[in-house]
Amino acid sequence: MSDVWQQQRQRMVDEQLRPRGIHDQRILAALANVPRHLFVPEALQDQAYSDQALPLTLGQTISQPYIVALMAQELLLNPHEQLLEIGAGSGYAAAVFAELVCKVVTIERHQALAQQTQVRLRNLGYVNIEVIWGDGSLGYPAAAPYHAISIPAATPQLTQTLLGQLHDGGRLVAPVGDAQDQQLIRLQRHGQNWQKTTISNVRFVPLIGAGGWEHAPETTAEGE
Ligand code: SAH
Repeated sequence: MSDVWQQQRQRMVDEQLRPRGIHDQRILAALANVPRHLFVPEALQDQAYSDQALPLTLGQTISQPYIVALMAQELLLNPHEQLLEIGAGSGYAAAVFAELVCKVVTIERHQALAQQTQVRLRNLGYVNIEVIWGDGSLGYPAAAPYHAISIPAATPQLTQTLLGQLHDGGRLVAPVGDAQDQQLIRLQRHGQNWQKTTISNVRFVPLIGAGGWEHAPETTAEGE
């Protein structure tokens, strides 16, 4: 059975990632390696390597593989770095990042999801991922600074509190916009200056908390 999953993953890499411009070999290898079928609800396992976001519990989603690869590529990651992810969800993206950097801190506002994800990642043997339960919309100062911050949830703004947690030279990738449509952007810090790159138009579930939306917005997006 494991070979069958591996073949499906390789096909995902060859058909969904390479043709769309994911060319970083380390990222392709990470996505070919992380068992996405173990991060989705059991009933959806046969769709684990399809080209789409899938529902998790509590109205949340596991991102589309291409989006995870795109965010990883745009984060310009190096092996010695520490990354913060705001929105652990299933832990899938955290597992991909954990193959690319030396330490991942991932924070999730739903307690049940955070606990489940922590157990899943531990069982899969990921020792370089720390799962935190809490509101990460203003970052996680306790482990700052970070070389990279990934936000897989739509946010109306990026606060100074959050941006201040990046190292000089650090990168943040996030979907910024309203609840319906966002632009995936990268901000790279150069001292007190920020270089902004717009990547693509996307649709993510909302970031809810002090630095995002106070409550779930009326029109909730369905993943990306
Ligand atoms: N990276 C995840 C998918 C994330 S979906 C994966 O690979 O499965 C976005 C997640 O962000 C959801 O789980 C949602 O509960 C979480 N979230 C939303 N607002 C948050 C906040 N303020 N702090 C932490 N997590 C938040």
